Amino acid sequence: MEDCIFCKIINGHIPSSKIYEDEQVIAFLDISQTTPGHTLLVPKKHVRNILDMDQETAAETFSRLPKLARAVHKATDALAINIINNNEALAGQSVFHAHIHIVPRYSEDDGISISYTTHEPDFEKLGLLADKIKKEVI
Ligand code: 5GP
Ligand code: ZN
Repeated sequence: MEDCIFCKIINGHIPSSKIYEDEQVIAFLDISQTTPGHTLLVPKKHVRNILDMDQETAAETFSRLPKLARAVHKATDALAINIINNNEALAGQSVFHAHIHIVPRYSEDDGISISYTTHEPDFEKLGLLADKIKKEVI
């Protein structure tokens, strides 16, 4: 897709620090290096994000994730790895070609903070919400 930075990287029109490539995916170091070794796994097919992704592209992309995460983990001597994926701007997506972040973690104060607000469970509400979501799974 024209004007897509990741399509340009896939086509070789702009350079990247590539760590892996096959017919379906490419993986390269994120330019921002949130932590050293921060890598992006990207399907070669231009899809906007997970909300737009067909099952085949998802299978091709996610099946590569364990071996690439293991490689990053091993090469960096990281203590842990976060797998992060942002869908739409509110969730932090800034490049609208689907990608998965592989982020090595070195310490609790390495600049990454992931927290979830916890609420008292209302099991009736949870049940209703689960039913609503269940109906949308096709
Ligand atoms: P998002 O915010 O969409 O989840 O992540 C997009 C990521 O792409 C950001 O972490 C950003 O640093 C990275 N990025 C943006 N432009 C480039 C680029 O030209 N080359 C590389 N290697 N990474 C990029
Ligand atoms: Zn693209």
